[in-house]
Amino acid sequence: MAGKPPQSDPVQDAPQVAGPKHAAAGLPAIGHTLRAAQQQMGVKRTALTLLRVNQKDGFDCPGCAWPEPEHRHAAEFCENGAKAVAEEATLRRVTPDFFAAHSVADLANRSGYWLGQQGRLTHPMYLAEGADHYEAVPWERAFDIIAEELTGLASPDEALFYTSGRTSNEAAFLYQLFAREFGTNNLPDCSNMCHESSGSALNETIGVGKGSVLLEDLYKADLIIVAGQNPGTNHPRMLSALEKAKANGAKIITVNPLPEAGMERFKNPQTPQGMFKGAALTDLFLQIRIGGDQALFRLLNKLIVETEGAVDEAFVGEHTHGYEEFAEAARAADWDETLTATGLTRAQVDEALRMVLASKRTIVCWAMGLTQHKHSVPTIREVVNFLLLRGNIGRPGAGVCPVRGHSNVQGDRTMGIFERPAPAFLDALEKEFGFAPPREHGYDVVRAIRAMRDGLAKVFFAMGGNFVSASPDTEVTEAAMRRARLTVHVSTKLNRSHAVTGARALILPTLGRTERDLQGSGEQVVTVEDSMGMVHASRGRLQPASEHLLSETAIVCRLARRVLGESSRTPWEEFEKDYATIRDRIARVVPGFEDFNARVAEPGGFALPHAPRDERRFPTATGKANFTAAPVEYPKLPEGRLLLQTLRSHDQYNTTIYGLDDRYRGIKNGRRVVLVNPEDARELGLADGSYTDLVSEWQDGVERRAPGFRVVHYPTARGCAAAYYPETNVLVPLDATADTSNTPASKSVVVRLEQSAAN
Ligand code: SF4
Repeated sequence: MAGKPPQSDPVQDAPQVAGPKHAAAGLPAIGHTLRAAQQQMGVKRTALTLLRVNQKDGFDCPGCAWPEPEHRHAAEFCENGAKAVAEEATLRRVTPDFFAAHSVADLANRSGYWLGQQGRLTHPMYLAEGADHYEAVPWERAFDIIAEELTGLASPDEALFYTSGRTSNEAAFLYQLFAREFGTNNLPDCSNMCHESSGSALNETIGVGKGSVLLEDLYKADLIIVAGQNPGTNHPRMLSALEKAKANGAKIITVNPLPEAGMERFKNPQTPQGMFKGAALTDLFLQIRIGGDQALFRLLNKLIVETEGAVDEAFVGEHTHGYEEFAEAARAADWDETLTATGLTRAQVDEALRMVLASKRTIVCWAMGLTQHKHSVPTIREVVNFLLLRGNIGRPGAGVCPVRGHSNVQGDRTMGIFERPAPAFLDALEKEFGFAPPREHGYDVVRAIRAMRDGLAKVFFAMGGNFVSASPDTEVTEAAMRRARLTVHVSTKLNRSHAVTGARALILPTLGRTERDLQGSGEQVVTVEDSMGMVHASRGRLQPASEHLLSETAIVCRLARRVLGESSRTPWEEFEKDYATIRDRIARVVPGFEDFNARVAEPGGFALPHAPRDERRFPTATGKANFTAAPVEYPKLPEGRLLLQTLRSHDQYNTTIYGLDDRYRGIKNGRRVVLVNPEDARELGLADGSYTDLVSEWQDGVERRAPGFRVVHYPTARGCAAAYYPETNVLVPLDATADTSNTPASKSVVVRLEQSAAN
């Protein structure tokens, strides 16, 4: 019945396994969507709510950051978008009675799935020091508790202000303003764990840390390379764009250690033809070895440089820097070693080259499969080298396309949520608000965990998200969190981070994106920025889940007034009353947001400027697009070990578990599974269906263990295994991060598989 959460926690993870699927979406997606929505919202609310998602006068999907097409379908959402909306608009409630019935210790023993299925938080909840149950607390008292701890700190840098990518532009802008007026740049965010490597590489090479393509460019491209990404689950409406590109004549190369159903065939539920027959997407599947992407692009670049007339010399000559040094490094690349690093054959690389040379407009799309490795930044630089060689930046149908996984993660960064803010941004903030913001860089996610572990950070405040489940090295992270004096989470639903607390803790329930946001001046809209730099409005339509909820923006404004008091000249009350006044300030501080209120009132919003795309102007240190000549790196694997990538199931969005199935991979009713190539399994003596412990080995000599995983013989690349996070985040060492970006290297973890006691 709609509204009733699962009573028992499925203690026994009992996966049933069938073969992987070879097509995504179609009729099954409609069935799964309606079932999930009905279970959370009931029939009537399902219809009312889903028809508002991603509509011009509706609310933005709180799922991924895929852009909206100009012409919206009546049902402008995907299966996983519908699940994200349904879980936010659920009729289930987590009330003070729930907390009275469930101690923190009990909640800590519950699965993430069970916690998330309990429903929407209704009241501010407080866990007093030494207590084992959260109790309801008035908002004022909650702000008092936070103010006590923050103003009691020896330094503002003992506080951490974390942001998850669901936070709206308005709330994010005020959140960073508050943190900086309080005196710190400790603004870690979920970007640190996902596309930080993209930002680092793109800022250095093209001068803008964001993708350069718009949705229309995908329709104009004649070659699209999708590397280290699984759109079928993580950005499902991207499949519609790829289908349209194919219909316009594009070719698609997929680069992934795993064959994924969504990139094989897309059964578009929007059309009868699509629903039943579907469209084949991938023309060339390169089953790369984990971490072999830099090597692949280096080989392609070598071949392009060595092929007469293949380089766009006019573009290279006019718009780039460093070509000669790079070309020399490319020519010097050792074929055998570099090819081995890819796990591919010469014939496959030659076929890819043939498709590249036949293309005039090439786009490369990527996600975590490229960003979460030690050498991710050089890998993404090599992708940029690849596009610069043939002038594929700054013209229609061509460019870089890092696909963001959280609905406003890019917007939050644009609003100043960054521990290493640009001096120009701080100058603009100081000019606009009349206080001197801190200039010393703050902590990113990994450094924030170290700071809590080492007792240097004492207050942890999270705007959304599920920090402990999203972070690496779970045991270290949870122990660090428990060292804090106070942990505060602004949340819509229950998650594990609420059960791993500091000496005392607060849960502050906030409005969801689907809900009406009524403030002093009336109903408010918020704005978000999608993966392609389009900024648009989102207007909540549903009655809030509880009368005790506050919007993220109101929470920041009231907290700031309580903590900063009379010393602050920032008009927090005015901001809370009318978000348009926040946008007026954003327009004066953040480049590209001039006349913000008027432009975002236009249906569909507006595109932010992107100098490389719009003018082939590259605001880099050299004033040109920079070729780079980094040595090729790839993970080395000791004998008898496998390279593990942590990933999502299809019933998952970041750390939110919608269900226990991963139907495209043929897995039902279980999450503790490890996908292993049958040849590797045979060599390791691991029968399909047997159980194994995953043990990661890293240079710190610490063995990290994740016990009891069912072995699934699966067509992964040789030497490469895969398992879901957050269950396997325990295997990722805190200090195993990408060079330069410091992003956790969650996609290449060296593991040994030990027979499990469960056998
Ligand atoms: S593709 Fe992403 S943004 Fe679009 S509906 Fe699906 S989850 Fe939401």
